[in-house]
Amino acid sequence: MSGEDGHFKMRESILTIPVNAVLEPKEGCPVCRMRDMLEQRTVEYIMGAAMMEPDVRIETNRAGFCHTHFLQMLKQKNRLSLALMLQTHLEEVDRELFSRKKLFEPKNSRKAKLSEINSTCFVCEKVEWGMERLLRTFFEMSSRDDIKELLKEQEYICLPHYDLLTSLAPAYLQKSALDNFNRIISALTKKYIASLYDDVSHYCSMYDYRNAKKDADWGNSKDSIERSVKFLTSRN
Ligand SMILES: [Zn+2]
Ligand SMILES: [Zn+2]
Repeated sequence: MSGEDGHFKMRESILTIPVNAVLEPKEGCPVCRMRDMLEQRTVEYIMGAAMMEPDVRIETNRAGFCHTHFLQMLKQKNRLSLALMLQTHLEEVDRELFSRKKLFEPKNSRKAKLSEINSTCFVCEKVEWGMERLLRTFFEMSSRDDIKELLKEQEYICLPHYDLLTSLAPAYLQKSALDNFNRIISALTKKYIASLYDDVSHYCSMYDYRNAKKDADWGNSKDSIERSVKFLTSRN
């Protein structure tokens, strides 16, 4: 398999995610689900044979990975793949920042390179690429009645993805469809904030001495902190 084939295989794998299948489950945020699928496919791809592809390795050497995606790769149990990628990535970092002798190098170019290395991630780049395409399809389908129904039945849209959807929607939807779409997602988000607030408040009240007895009812509050973190950050 050549590098070009490797890239093609990943693009194909990313684009075969059907948008309505992402909307079928009614738990959590649908955009988180979309991102999780893209992440999972990208991480599995990069930890598999693709890691040895010269074209792919050029990209991982340049971009490196962010903390979130390093952790996901560490969970894959294939530590040698990760070590081999790190070996050539570290080599490139050293060459770009420290070892390379270059005549007439612009004054700030190494500082710019340093900032770039610190802010790029191979998985984030692929996920962003896939999200853009999946969300375009999602917006194209969003005026269909069955898709509108599926959207309304979602548990919530997390806050970072509420931001993402409201930022992208005007580029894809006409005035009335846009208003309708924004109404649906803001209602979902507003309702979920209210229920989180109730659960977190209930949690706090459980520390009150009047609730100190053994059979006190925690209701839905026990995981309200975790659910709030997930809602506010899109991450567990
Ligand atoms: Zn989300
Ligand atoms: Zn990343």
